Amino acid sequence: MAGWTEPSHRTGPPLWLLAELTYRCPLHCVFCYNPTRHARITQELSTAEWVNVMQQARALGAAQLGFSGGEPLLRDDLEELVAEARRLGFYTNLITSGVGLTPARAQRLHDAGLDHVQLSFQDSTRELNDFLSHTRTFELKQRVARTIKDQGWPMVMNCVLHRHNLPHVDKIIEMALDLGAEYLELANTQYYGWAWVNRDHLMPTREQLLHAEAVVNQYRERIGNRCRLLFVVPDYFEDRPKACMNGWGSVFLSVAPDGLAMPCHNARELPGLALPSVREHTLAEIWQRSGAFNAFRGEDWMREPCRSCHERHKDFGGCRCQAFQITGDAANTDPVCSKSPQHERVLRLVREAPARRHIPIVFRSDAESRLLHPEPAP
Ligand code: SF4
Ligand code: SF4
Repeated sequence: MAGWTEPSHRTGPPLWLLAELTYRCPLHCVFCYNPTRHARITQELSTAEWVNVMQQARALGAAQLGFSGGEPLLRDDLEELVAEARRLGFYTNLITSGVGLTPARAQRLHDAGLDHVQLSFQDSTRELNDFLSHTRTFELKQRVARTIKDQGWPMVMNCVLHRHNLPHVDKIIEMALDLGAEYLELANTQYYGWAWVNRDHLMPTREQLLHAEAVVNQYRERIGNRCRLLFVVPDYFEDRPKACMNGWGSVFLSVAPDGLAMPCHNARELPGLALPSVREHTLAEIWQRSGAFNAFRGEDWMREPCRSCHERHKDFGGCRCQAFQITGDAANTDPVCSKSPQHERVLRLVREAPARRHIPIVFRSDAESRLLHPEPAP
């Protein structure tokens, strides 16, 4: 997997660049998707290095650019990066908790050419919002939502769903309508990073999910296009996996704060991938020739049952990180699939969650990160 290959004419361009500007974040979400070793990764690319990454990505064909984190607003050079992205012709999206998006900063980002803002909420109630993020941010997020609207940006609100807030899905939709969101992404928890650590506390019941989906469908009929409701399916309750990243190394390129390039923002957790750094290689080399980007590209890597399955063009065998996390081998079929010989392991995770809630919930923090990973980052 670590070797470099010759470029293949079958490799299309990356369409999406995700710039994870920093792993620093003022919030402590129990479902945070950042790697749990975030506190061991303290180096960040400089402004000039990010500009170089964006220029190379645009030259390769990328058109959409997400500024993410951690909290990207913690970077003082965000305005400069947005302005450069605009000059290069990217469509830009800021993915934020809202902390730090003052009216003055919003104005500067607007002037720099930012196209779109995605604001995360934890719940429709102050109690749960503040509990799940371990911060007092509920009112702040409401103010930020108004600031986003004042700038005329289309607003996507994002709320991660789990057993604590699924019963509030109607209130969450009402809140999004009140705040004037154009889109509401109701994202059932994906169990990576801190969400994997806290999976037993977050795991809903099938009844909760069915009820929430029915509520979402009722609202869709009632409100039409006033606010588009996206209900991201709950992996562990499906019998087919998601088409993760639309296929490994197919359209998505993520660059971590320290410059590691990844086909998906969780790939750091996979052993033996030898992720290449933008500090040592060009993006074209990384995208076309690196072992990491070619490891699961296309179909040659697939084992049975995926290899001979007629659905492999649809879901690409599912998620490599999930396959590794649950079966111990990233090249296995995603065990969410009912055709996987390890599918029972997913069912067991769901079944056994209630009995394991005596294990304390872990809020994302630097201290917890260092406890979980006593060794320095490689
Ligand atoms: S999920 Fe929460 S803690 Fe993690 S980066 Fe987003 S806002 Fe920060
Ligand atoms: S066996 Fe593989 S390709 Fe077939 S449906 Fe399951 S995950 Fe998809």
